[in-house]
Amino acid sequence: MHSDERSGDKPVQVNPHSVPAAPAPAPASPAAPARTLPATTRRRGLRRMLAALALVLAIGFLAPEFAVIPVEGAGPRDWNPRSFWFEPWGASGVHKGIDIFAPTGRRVVAATYGIVLFRGEIERGGKVVVALGPKWRLHYYAHLDTLQAGVLTPLLPGTPLGTVGDSGNAAGKPPHLHYTVASLLPLPWKATAQTQGWKRSFYLDPAEVVAAGGRR
Ligand SMILES: [Zn+2]
Repeated sequence: MHSDERSGDKPVQVNPHSVPAAPAPAPASPAAPARTLPATTRRRGLRRMLAALALVLAIGFLAPEFAVIPVEGAGPRDWNPRSFWFEPWGASGVHKGIDIFAPTGRRVVAATYGIVLFRGEIERGGKVVVALGPKWRLHYYAHLDTLQAGVLTPLLPGTPLGTVGDSGNAAGKPPHLHYTVASLLPLPWKATAQTQGWKRSFYLDPAEVVAAGGRR
């Protein structure tokens, strides 16, 4: 298609017989009340938002973990099989994770896909990393000697996070990685009659998580 009016630099010819342009609408007064959406439109918007939220939650749940043992070269022999929910356990009452023993300086790696949410030093955990992984689970790595991955670092299973140490309240004890897996959404069927057994709706046995990912 060719339009004379758009080609070249010639001024646009105005056809005097053309219908005059409609007068410009009066500028909206700043005091004009905002239009409110009809209730049905609002409900549809809400439904769409909930559907999107459900989809995001479902994708999070369906995302595979492919978990690995988060200390390089470590195997199931490097933690006590009774480590998880062991009691009595100091101020925590029960031990909500496993302690993977390894020499100081051994590399600590991400157990699963995820993203680093926190990295820093806290009183009990010492140098720690917290990552959000698949299935809306938080992965907590504590007592590190050095920290490597920064906040918002995307993680693959095996991405370096730092090194094994004895920071925090592990000072003076054999160096180990304390590893906890916590579900952000409650899993009430996992609750037990043990001490603080209801909290097992939120804490998973890390040994089972890494076993599900396939042993090396
Ligand atoms: Zn521990």
